[in-house]
Amino acid sequence: MQTKAFATQSPTTPFAPHSIERRAPGPEDVAIDILYCGVCHSDLHTARGEWPGVQYPCVPGHEIVGKVTAVGAKVTKFKPGQLVGVGCMVDSCRTCASCQDGLEQYCEGPVGFTGTYNGPVGGGANTYGGYSAAITVDQRFVLAIGHAEKDLAAVAPLLCAGITTWSPLKHWGAGPGKKVGIVGIGGLGHMGIKLAHALGAKTVGFTTSPDKVDEIKRLGADEVVISKDEKQMAAQAGSFDLIVNTVAVAHNLDAYVSLLKRDGTMVLVGAPSSPHPSPAVFNLVFRRRAIAGSLIGGIPETQEMLDFCARHNIVADVEVIRMQEIENAYARMLKSDVKYRFSIDMASLKA
Ligand code: NAP
Ligand code: ZN
Ligand code: ZN
Repeated sequence: MQTKAFATQSPTTPFAPHSIERRAPGPEDVAIDILYCGVCHSDLHTARGEWPGVQYPCVPGHEIVGKVTAVGAKVTKFKPGQLVGVGCMVDSCRTCASCQDGLEQYCEGPVGFTGTYNGPVGGGANTYGGYSAAITVDQRFVLAIGHAEKDLAAVAPLLCAGITTWSPLKHWGAGPGKKVGIVGIGGLGHMGIKLAHALGAKTVGFTTSPDKVDEIKRLGADEVVISKDEKQMAAQAGSFDLIVNTVAVAHNLDAYVSLLKRDGTMVLVGAPSSPHPSPAVFNLVFRRRAIAGSLIGGIPETQEMLDFCARHNIVADVEVIRMQEIENAYARMLKSDVKYRFSIDMASLKA
């Protein structure tokens, strides 16, 4: 099926309308009419060629929510009319140890997991993501959405920003009695604040933007620290069990490592295009501190997160935009001027 989309043709070409082919649903497939798609900083890194291996035309978008229009004969989990989501992955090898554990993002198969966009599909072609009117996805990589339909624009960002912060928070045990820091309060960070708070952790936001302080408290932070203020940073020294760092540019990690308790961990989820300066070794060894990384989340934990959010009335704070406004949205994202995620209303693309 020819499907309307927005694509960029090179790292420096503005987005423009484009037509892509979507497959007719096979036996295990779910065909989805896309209603909203969140705008992740990874979309920008990819579209602008900041990460290696990008193929053009490039159609980003991996925070997809919509309605099922058709299902294949063997689809048991979904039916037409149902609200569903698709996140960062549309397939994986399905047999390796990570896939068996429901951690498909760490697939050890020959090509790893297949990204929702720019993922290899054989024959030199790559996948096209959610800046499009429709998508066809194997039922194993489709998520059920329990939120009300009126909340859909704000549910979309859970599919990446939500799960990317949920996964490390759960893995490193965020909960009552734990002090958790979230660094960089953009799309990922604002979800990190909401989720850490909902899990019962003492939650501290770290921001470079003084004008966000009151809002970050409203999102659920017990305290907010201006990360450029050395006095405020020093007051937090040695006190964190866990810090989740979402910053999208290279920066000095030592400033945050110093805030960890003995045995504390800072998890990097931000993925800058150039490396961070090497952290100071003594700062790590003297307190058995760790720096770790974490990639999105597996399908079972994504469903767990969506169900948790539906139960606790958690959605993202979104600014709904038209597809045609994407260039301006990227420019604003680069200025940290997003409160806190753009969500594209796909009606604008279909009109
Ligand atoms: P975003 O909305 O642009 O948020 C990033 C935030 O970082 C900004 O809002 C800003 O918050 C802070 N920041 C920006 N410039 C900074 C600077 N120079 N120094 C310190 N802080 C700065 O981006 P996002 O969509 O949340 O994505 C964040 C990063 O995570 C990107 O690199 C993205 O590719 C990556 N990502 C990784 C995964 C994964 O699986 N690991 C998944 C999705 C995204 P303040 O105004 O509060 O300082
Ligand atoms: Zn993302
Ligand atoms: Zn695998």
